Amino acid sequence: MTTPEPDFQTDRAALAGRLKMILPAHCLLVDDEDLRPYECDGLTAFRQLPLAVCLPESEAQVIDVLRTCHQLGVPVVARGAGTGLSGGAMPHAQGVVLSLARFNKILRVDRKARLAVVQPGVRNLAVSEAAAPFGLYYAPDPSSQIACTLGGNVAENSGGVHCLKYGLTVHNVLRIRVVSIEGEVFEIGSEAPDAPGYDLLALLIGSEGMLGVVTEVTVKLVPKPELAQVVMASFDDVARAGDAVADIIAAGIIPAGLEMMDKAATAAVEPFVKAGYDLRAAAILLCEADGTPEEVAEEIGRVTEVLRAAGARELRVSQSEAERLRFWAGRKAAFPAVGRITPDYYCMDGTIPRKRLAEMLSAIADMEHKYGLRCANVFHAGDGNLHPLIMYDAAKPGEWRWAEAFGAEILEMSVALGGSITGEHGVGIEKINQMCVQYKTPELEAFHRIKYAFDDKGLLNPGKAVPSLHRCAEYGRMHVHQGDLKFLELERF
Ligand SMILES: Cc1cc2nc3c(=O)[nH]c(=O)nc-3n(C[C@H](O)[C@H](O)[C@H](O)COP(=O)(O)OP(=O)(O)OC[C@H]3O[C@@H](n4cnc5c(N)ncnc54)[C@H](O)[C@@H]3O)c2cc1C
Repeated sequence: MTTPEPDFQTDRAALAGRLKMILPAHCLLVDDEDLRPYECDGLTAFRQLPLAVCLPESEAQVIDVLRTCHQLGVPVVARGAGTGLSGGAMPHAQGVVLSLARFNKILRVDRKARLAVVQPGVRNLAVSEAAAPFGLYYAPDPSSQIACTLGGNVAENSGGVHCLKYGLTVHNVLRIRVVSIEGEVFEIGSEAPDAPGYDLLALLIGSEGMLGVVTEVTVKLVPKPELAQVVMASFDDVARAGDAVADIIAAGIIPAGLEMMDKAATAAVEPFVKAGYDLRAAAILLCEADGTPEEVAEEIGRVTEVLRAAGARELRVSQSEAERLRFWAGRKAAFPAVGRITPDYYCMDGTIPRKRLAEMLSAIADMEHKYGLRCANVFHAGDGNLHPLIMYDAAKPGEWRWAEAFGAEILEMSVALGGSITGEHGVGIEKINQMCVQYKTPELEAFHRIKYAFDDKGLLNPGKAVPSLHRCAEYGRMHVHQGDLKFLELERF
């Protein structure tokens, strides 16, 4: 059983008429100029205008929109802040965008239970801000946390600098409330640490808006550590920096954050943020310890020992909270900083076993020559999660194609090294072909069965995240083989 891939044909006027019956005028956009801001997410190379954008203010309105779309057979793409980097919130040409932007209330912060109940349009950072008076915070911290929403975080299973120690979104969400495409409301998980039955919470988290629309999220809050300090280590050799990451984890240390940037990345960041990075280094590592002052002192001591043994040329330990934040500010601003030195960049997101970081870095250096494009590398190194930023100029004919092929090769190499085509940005439309490399037919069929169980008409975010078997067969024929991208003149997607 596979989810149908219908050729959706929506009657635009009829759809608008039905939506006007269930939404007040200020909650519905149908004119092209109003739809334009919704045509893409953070993956701006892929754009599509929807037929309508719904901005419901209540769960009852969400239910009505979904029921209407289900009856009419209209595709629905949920949207948070639109910061996604894999095209997950890119609209469908025959469908509606269901924006959760107005679901922006923090419903409850429970200091004793250490949890918060929030609507899905609440910004990630706003949860920590609301919890701060109680000495608590929400640990998963995507670099986009000032803008991205909890609904998007749940749909993408987002990660961040501190997820190595505190876990990804999936480890920090206790309960979600969801509306199905048929307009049924169901709740998964509870405020208790475990729930009976199949673990549908883990299934829904990271499901990229394909199984239901999240209308409420209960998250865990953790106490703010008494102290945090960062060690910044410079390496003359990128491979050594990669090996040092594996050495730290192998020594039994789980730092609060363990991030890496290569020379191209620090060169882009330093003039922008003035974080104090060593610009002579081939790569720098940022390693954070948090806890009580005694725990931090002990961990910093052990980390510096491992880093020295791994060949670090220079080590600096943050001496104040301001300096610690400055060290991280550079890492968190790496994407916009690279955006200043190139007309366009393409951010990849693959994951590999930590011990193979060095191998991957040298392969990426070879690919820079092969495709004639520069690449700056930033990593959630502790998780083995790579974010190569491929620099290109969309105005130059063919460059986007080369950037895309470069990115695809990185992802496929991630699979070959025993890793995965995504760490935290999801598959969306961007990596849908690489899903054919990651998985074989029986696994993809299992995904289709799950999709069918939740959404038998295939209306939620069609064409994203899970490729059809037909698509994989096509991709197999067009596969980059031994470095040659065949039929370059053909339109792909
Ligand atoms: C500069 C920058 C830095 C970033 N850094 C990180 C990082 O460090 N870590 C990381 O993980 N990501 C990062 N991202 C990617 C992005 O911010 C995350 O994927 C984020 O979770 C997306 O949230 P959003 O609200 O913008 O969701 P959107 O982009 O609007 O949507 C993302 C997906 O979620 C679905 N969705 C949204 N809301 C709902 C809902 N209520 N119910 C069901 N489905 C829904 C959409 O359909 C779509 O498939 C970064 C992006 C940028 C631009």
